[in-house]
Amino acid sequence: MAHTDTGDTETDSAGVRLAELHHYFRQHPVTGPEGHSYTLSGNHHTFTETGIPYNVRVADHIQASVTEVITRTRDANPDAGLPKRIEDVYDWAREHTEHAPDDVRFRRDTLEYRHRLEHAIAAGDTAVVRPHRCPSCGTLGLHWNTDRQRAVCLNLHCARTNQGISRSWTLGRLAFERTATEKTLRECAT
Ligand SMILES: [Zn+2]
Repeated sequence: MAHTDTGDTETDSAGVRLAELHHYFRQHPVTGPEGHSYTLSGNHHTFTETGIPYNVRVADHIQASVTEVITRTRDANPDAGLPKRIEDVYDWAREHTEHAPDDVRFRRDTLEYRHRLEHAIAAGDTAVVRPHRCPSCGTLGLHWNTDRQRAVCLNLHCARTNQGISRSWTLGRLAFERTATEKTLRECAT
């Protein structure tokens, strides 16, 4: 399973990423204190070095993600009810905010994209940040820093114009930039 493209909704959406995490989690119950390592795309990261059993971390991550989508969707549309299955949560959110104002749909799309990045990173696929441009200098090749939980720009010129300190970005910021760019492209196309 290679996730190298940046936004094909069929193969690499937040929903697909979440479903992968969710299915893996359900099919691989933890049998020992080390938890299990969940690998995707040939990455061999494990998360046991954090000291938190992996299953707890993934379960919390899935729970928090689903709760966030449900809360935001019901804020926008109190009649939305609940999604039937965890992996349907993004389709459900889109369906129930279809006629919401522009800013609501923009926030929804930003949230979904941020979750796609978060789910990928939770599965050890930190390369998911690389196709993004640094919001400051515009170069490609951001690197994920696990300790800081941010994407770091390694462009020296970018650091030089920032008192020698590499700029770093949250996934939320990358998702915002991405959603804004897509919106602009859509508006230009119509
Ligand atoms: Zn930069």
